[in-house]
Amino acid sequence: MTNEETFAHELKTLQAQGNLRTLPLVAHDGQDIIASGRRMLNLSSNDYLGLAGEKTLQEQFWQGLSGEDTLLSASSSRLLTGNFSAYTRLEQLLAALFGREAALVFGSGYHMNTGILPAVTDSSTLILADKLVHASLIDGIRLSGARSIRFRHQDYAQLENLLQKYHADFPRIIIVTESIFSMDGDTADLLRLTGLKKQYPGTMLYVDEAHGIGVRGRQGLGLAEELDCIGDIDFLCGTFGKALASVGAYVVCNRIIRDYLVNKMRTLIFTTALPPLNVAWTQFVMERLADMTERRQRLASSSTCLRNALKAHGWTCPSESHIVPMIVGDSHEATQKAEQLQKLGYYVLPVRPPTVPPGTSRLRFSLNAGITPDELKQLTELL
Ligand SMILES: *Cc1c(COP(=O)(O)O)cnc(C)c1O
Repeated sequence: MTNEETFAHELKTLQAQGNLRTLPLVAHDGQDIIASGRRMLNLSSNDYLGLAGEKTLQEQFWQGLSGEDTLLSASSSRLLTGNFSAYTRLEQLLAALFGREAALVFGSGYHMNTGILPAVTDSSTLILADKLVHASLIDGIRLSGARSIRFRHQDYAQLENLLQKYHADFPRIIIVTESIFSMDGDTADLLRLTGLKKQYPGTMLYVDEAHGIGVRGRQGLGLAEELDCIGDIDFLCGTFGKALASVGAYVVCNRIIRDYLVNKMRTLIFTTALPPLNVAWTQFVMERLADMTERRQRLASSSTCLRNALKAHGWTCPSESHIVPMIVGDSHEATQKAEQLQKLGYYVLPVRPPTVPPGTSRLRFSLNAGITPDELKQLTELL
């Protein structure tokens, strides 16, 4: 077989398993998505606060825009000539909002998660990661020189056993988790984790709030704000591409950690910085995040409504958030169910292996603040 024949064979196998992926061609119109000539309510977006299509907000931004913030490219790494003032302003804003010493902004969540762990670990570091952390974190662990063990999802008793067993052997242990998990929509017990970190000196805590930022907490700063433990997390990370309707990612941390990352983090050093325009937009949205309580409340109540409806119909649903999976099991069945709902006007996507463990294929509802109670009521009646 030639190389291409081998690839073609693998694609055929994926197709036979119901796991072949293709890039869907879609158009957007407010809360709706148009795909395959069909208009559907978008229940698969990460635009949790419904800001991505918010015209008034965008017009306000364009009107206030001036100087270097209008630039569409940074043309360089931040370490060379790409460090525009928009970065400094956004990082100062983040540090102030979170009440921490420093913040550092990256090109994307993928850059963040594949860059931080390799920078802050060596062969005498042990990484203890939740089994279900995002692929970008898995890649970051792989790229690091550290030893790593993945503990069963949210099994903090197992995590504590591992800490007990290894903390004498490793001067640095890093616990890695998401705050709201992207596939199950359940939430990490951050207070238990900060407790463990304090109990075992030399332990650091890394929390990815990609699905928590904007959505949880009084000012929308995430689950760590809601649980009042921002100050106890060494690497409090999040992304701007989801609820914030922008692009990029951040860590809030102590000054020394920021300085260290600037020196050691390859996915910050060896990449062109985000365009100043995008960074200015992120700042614009961040400044208004605290005032979006009503959107957060709407999202919370529609999430509760959908979760309850699924449970009432006997579906397994581990969610504690606006990410609401309906776990079907078989990949073909998940695909079929998604197609049925799409025919009825709801854009829901199946999630299959390798994104989730085999046998746990699911429909993944990803709600946003723009969905009305009426729309949701109609959906729950169909389920
Ligand atoms: C989406 C996501 C990322 C990746 O962020 P991007 O900015 O899209 O690269 C990282 N971590 C988690 C948990 C995510 O859900």
